[in-house]
Amino acid sequence: MKLSFEESQLAYTSGSQSARAWTEAWVKAWAYCPHCGSAKMSQFPNNKPVADFLCTSCSEEFELKSQKGKFGDKVIDGAFKTKCERLAAGNNPNLLLMNYDRTSLAVVNLFIVPKHFFVRDIIEERKPLAATARRAGWIGSKILLSKVPEAGKIHIVQNGVIRPKDIVLQEWQKTLFLRDQSLDARGWLLDVLRCAESLGKPEFTLEEIYAFERHLGKLYPGNQNVRPKIRQQLQFLRDRGFIEFVSRGSYRLRS
Ligand SMILES: [Zn+2]
Repeated sequence: MKLSFEESQLAYTSGSQSARAWTEAWVKAWAYCPHCGSAKMSQFPNNKPVADFLCTSCSEEFELKSQKGKFGDKVIDGAFKTKCERLAAGNNPNLLLMNYDRTSLAVVNLFIVPKHFFVRDIIEERKPLAATARRAGWIGSKILLSKVPEAGKIHIVQNGVIRPKDIVLQEWQKTLFLRDQSLDARGWLLDVLRCAESLGKPEFTLEEIYAFERHLGKLYPGNQNVRPKIRQQLQFLRDRGFIEFVSRGSYRLRS
C-alpha cells in the first residue's frame, strides 16, 4: 500500500470532482476488504444509491466518504429514507472514511465504521431541501460519528501510518458478533460501551456507569430495569473482549 494518489490523476481539474476521482482510484488500487482480507475492492457503477465499492469475494459493500480535514462529530450522507430502509433490512453498506492532505496529495486517515455499528440512533434526518433547490423536498442524512464507540472505527491508515493488515482484520472480526444481535440489543451494547468511553479514562466503576441510568432510560423508555440491563451489557462486553473486569465493580476498557 502506498499513501499518495497517482500522478496520472493529477491532471484532473482542481476541486471536489478531482478529489473524488483520486480517492476512488486510490481505494480501488490499495484498499483491501477488512471482512475477508481480499486485496481488491471493485467499484460499483456511478450513482448506485448508497454504496461505492464491493468486495467480489465476500460481497461486503462499502460507501466511501472523503474530505480534506478530519471528520468531526457528523458526516453528511445520502437520502435519509434509503439509509433507514437499508438499516432495517440489514443490507446497509460499511462506511469507509478517508481524510487526505491536499498539499502532499496523500491519504492521512482511512477508517471503517462497520455496518453492524449502525443503529437508528446514529442516523440524523436533515431538513428537506428548499423549494428552490433542484431536488426540492429531498431529505438527506447525517451520520453521528460521535455516537459510534471507538471499537467501531477501525483504522487502516492512521495519521499517515499504515496499520498492519492482520491487526485490522482481527479488530474487524472481533466486532462481527454484533451482526447476530437485533437492532435493539445492538443499541444497548453500543450505548453502554459509549457511556464507558465517554468517561475518558481506561478504568471505570459500575457506579460511574450507573450515573448514565437516566440517560439510558430516556433512550429506551420501555425498559424499567436499566441497572440490571447495564450489568448484563458489561458482562456481554467482557465476554466479547471489549472490557475487562478488574475487581468487583471495577472495569477496564480494552483498546
Ligand atoms: Zn471481502
